[in-house]
Amino acid sequence: MKITFPHLGNSYISVEPLLEGMGHEPITPPYGSKRTLELGGQLSPEVICLPFKIVLGNMLEGLDQGATGVVMIGGWGPCRLGYYGEVQRILLEKSGREIEFFMLEMPRGNVEKTIRLLHQTFSCTRPQKFWRGCQLAWVKLEAVECLESLALKIRPREQTRGTASRILSKYLKEIRQAQGVRRVKDLARKAQGDFLDAMKTNTGAKVPKVGLVGEIYTVIEPLANLNLEERLGELGVEVVRTISLQEWVRDHIFKKLVGRSHLAPLMRSAEGYLHSFIGGHGLETVAHSVDSARANLNGVIQILPLACMPEILAQGILPQISRDYNLPIMSLVVDEHSSETGFQTRLEAFVDLLERQVHAPHA
Ligand code: SF4
Repeated sequence: MKITFPHLGNSYISVEPLLEGMGHEPITPPYGSKRTLELGGQLSPEVICLPFKIVLGNMLEGLDQGATGVVMIGGWGPCRLGYYGEVQRILLEKSGREIEFFMLEMPRGNVEKTIRLLHQTFSCTRPQKFWRGCQLAWVKLEAVECLESLALKIRPREQTRGTASRILSKYLKEIRQAQGVRRVKDLARKAQGDFLDAMKTNTGAKVPKVGLVGEIYTVIEPLANLNLEERLGELGVEVVRTISLQEWVRDHIFKKLVGRSHLAPLMRSAEGYLHSFIGGHGLETVAHSVDSARANLNGVIQILPLACMPEILAQGILPQISRDYNLPIMSLVVDEHSSETGFQTRLEAFVDLLERQVHAPHA
């Protein structure tokens, strides 16, 4: 079956082999654009959070490219993600589209539901093919995240503006095309060499380091965060991303499958500020802000969609962390009306503050 799926940064590079391994033909929607947001916004309830609208827009664009099925992740917990997929399915059907909707979510001990889901999703493949698809997807995800982190390090230190982004985009294209695990690993090694070469001439540059925390979708998806990481890099800031998709898969799939929780270390970091899971990445935002202060980063940026409940709760706690650790923290709220100019001005003002701190005589 031709299946489409929503974008989340560069994750499509590993979703494609995964779907192929499941015996489906992946239909990757075009990169998110204004049109994506318009399409999604037209069908969405007005007050729903920004990720919902973009994700729905991706689905519509994928269906327009010939997909007959949609895959979406589900979830449970005190935030809206748990029913996103179901609402999107209803909206797509109401718009007159006949589709198969696959919801991938942890079944919470419902054996019958698990068997039905596995049967629906994997019925058209052989186990070896599925296993190869999983391996390739995982190695690609690892390579993509490794190169993204390198780009974050190099961008503020590059001699020629745009070099890190160019290297990243060149290798992402090659990794996407790669058909074997060894080829992906070779490409990742080669890319690391190119990144290091781009930095060689300017390794000693002292640049501010900022921890990026917040709602996972807005942290990772450039359409939602107005290319925040690239903007900061170009302003001379090294971004330390505190959220990774590999980690998400480990925490939310593998650990849950064996009944383990990922919350204990987060609770320890957040101790004194927050003592329970509040849904989404709210706990992570608090914990990683504290971790960033302890790791001597120069500041923290929280990014969240308008009306995102877990992040609004976390936002209320961040000023205390900022005071306790004397750490500049800025929250950026985004929705479909966010203005690039206002966004850039706020970033520049924040970076000015950090630079003064980094270059102060006692720093
Ligand atoms: S974490 Fe926030 S943005 Fe994401 S689904 Fe929940 S409420 Fe919406």
